[in-house]
Amino acid sequence: MANLRELYQEVILDHNRKPRNFGVLEDATCHAHGYNPLCGDDYTIYARVEDGVVTALSFEGEGCAVSKAAASMMTQRLRGKTVEEARRYVEEFRELMLEELDEAGEEHLGHLMVFRGVSQLPNRIKCAVLPWHTLRAALEGDEQVSTEGHKDEWNDQEGDGDE
Ligand code: ZN
Repeated sequence: MANLRELYQEVILDHNRKPRNFGVLEDATCHAHGYNPLCGDDYTIYARVEDGVVTALSFEGEGCAVSKAAASMMTQRLRGKTVEEARRYVEEFRELMLEELDEAGEEHLGHLMVFRGVSQLPNRIKCAVLPWHTLRAALEGDEQVSTEGHKDEWNDQEGDGDE
């Protein structure tokens, strides 16, 4: 992955220019709104879940190139995955940002590893993670998330007991 940095820039620019799955998903079964006040990233993530499978995803909103590319790639990658699998991706992406991801996780994330470079840019991490956390909130039935809320699961270790 010697050219990861180049690839990263290329991918981010491409998805920023042509975001995939951009717009309201009319028959979504859940959605959540996520906001990152440090950067101004502001997105709504929509998902349609049928029989435990995420059959469609979309997003809309405004934000920086990193957040938009993350949302765009996430909606592409998770389509057709089970809710359980989607949660695994969310967790792995978070671990990638915290530089805690193991090799199996790296392989599983595959192309999403282009975001590795973001983990070196502390003020960009929340941009990249925002869509993922917002999706997780949607799947759990929460409709609002902020990177700076009193319910600050961004800076603590989440308490999921997965460690
Ligand atoms: Zn941002």
